[in-house]
Amino acid sequence: MLERAIVESSTRQAPGLDITVVGAGVIGLTTAVVLQRDGHRVQVIAAERGEHTTSAVAAALWHPFATNPPERVNAWSRATLDELTRIAAEHPEAGVDLLTTREASDVVQLPWWAPSVPDLALEPGPHPLGAPHSFRFTAPRIEPSLHLPWLESQLHRPVRIERVRSLAEVEGDVVVNCTGLGARALTGDGELLALYGQVAIVEPGEIHLDVALGDERDESALVYVVPRRREIVIGGCVVPSPDDRSLTPDPERTDAMLQRVRAAGLRPGALLRARAGLRPYRSVVRLEREGRVIHNYGHGGAGYTLAWGCASEVSAMLRHGGAPADGCVA
Ligand SMILES: Cc1cc2nc3c(=O)[nH]c(=O)nc-3n(C[C@H](O)[C@H](O)[C@H](O)COP(=O)(O)OP(=O)(O)OC[C@H]3O[C@@H](n4cnc5c(N)ncnc54)[C@H](O)[C@@H]3O)c2cc1C
Repeated sequence: MLERAIVESSTRQAPGLDITVVGAGVIGLTTAVVLQRDGHRVQVIAAERGEHTTSAVAAALWHPFATNPPERVNAWSRATLDELTRIAAEHPEAGVDLLTTREASDVVQLPWWAPSVPDLALEPGPHPLGAPHSFRFTAPRIEPSLHLPWLESQLHRPVRIERVRSLAEVEGDVVVNCTGLGARALTGDGELLALYGQVAIVEPGEIHLDVALGDERDESALVYVVPRRREIVIGGCVVPSPDDRSLTPDPERTDAMLQRVRAAGLRPGALLRARAGLRPYRSVVRLEREGRVIHNYGHGGAGYTLAWGCASEVSAMLRHGGAPADGCVA
C-alpha cells in the first residue's frame, strides 16, 4: 500500500501547498523529494547539511535496527526497500546498490522484521562472524556521500542554511519537522534519546565487496561489515549518550571493532578514517500531525531503512488532510 502511495504521489496533479521541510539529513531530503513530486512548492532549511549530519556517518545498510513500533516499521521498511531497489536500478549515481546480507542468529527463527523482506531465508551452517545460524536477504546499501547530494540535486530550490529557533515561526502552509535529534530543543520532546555509534572505514583488504555481514545478538558487542563501492565500513556500537557528547571517534573503540572482525578470520585493509554520530532514538518514531506541523523524527538506527516509507506517509497525511485513523497509509 505504501508503495502505491509513492507511485501515486509521483503522478498526481499539484495541490500547490507551500511546504517548509526543516532538516537536511536523509529524512528531510527524502521527504522533500516526495512532497515535491506531489507538486508542492518545497523549501528545505537546515542548520547543517551533507557531511555535517548524522546521516553522513551511517553505515547506511537497509536494516530495521533500534527502531519502533514493529508494525509501522515493517510497512515503512518494505516501502523504502522497494523504492531503493528501483533507485539502484535506475540511478547508479545515487549511490545505492543491492548486496547480499548475512545476519547472525543464535536461534533458527526469523527476526521480527521478516515481513518487510521478500527474500529472507534461513541459511544452514554457521555465520562468518561466529554464530551457529544465519539468515540471508538482499538489502540496499546506500553511500551517504553520493546519496545525500543526489537527493539535494532533485530539489528545485537549494537547501537554505539556517538554524530554526521555533517551528511556529517557520513560513509555509505546512512545516515538516525532520530535525533528528534537534527536535528535542524544538519540541521539548523528552522521549528523544541520543544513541552513540562509531564506525571504522577501511580499505577492502581481503573482504569481498558484495556481501554485508551483521551480528547484533549482543548490542554491547555489535558487529557489522558493510562494503561500499571502494571501501568497507566496520562497526559498531550503541551507547546511550547525552547529545552534547564529543563526536570525536574513540581510537580504542576503533581498535576493538577491528579486532572483533579480525578474530572472526576476516582480513580488512588499512584504516582510512573513523567517524562517530548520535542516532536519534525514540521508543516509537514520531510521525504525526500537530496543527500546521508534521513531525517526522526519531528514526534511531534506521533512518535510511525508513526514509521513503515515512516520506510517503507524510504525503498521504497531506492528501487526507490529517493523520489516517490507524496511523498508517491505507
Ligand atoms: C554509526 C551509525 C551507523 C548507522 N547505520 C545505519 C544503517 O546502517 N542503516 C540505517 O538505516 N541507519 C543507520 N544509522 C541511523 C541513521 O544515520 C539515522 O537514523 C539518520 O541519519 C537520521 O536522519 P535524520 O535526517 O532524522 O537526522 P540527521 O541526519 O541528524 O539530520 C537532521 C537535520 O536537521 C537539522 N536540524 C536539527 N535541528 C535544527 C534546527 N533547530 N534548525 C534547522 N535545522 C536543524 C540538522 O542540521 C540536519 O540537517 C546509523 C547511525 C549511526 C550514528
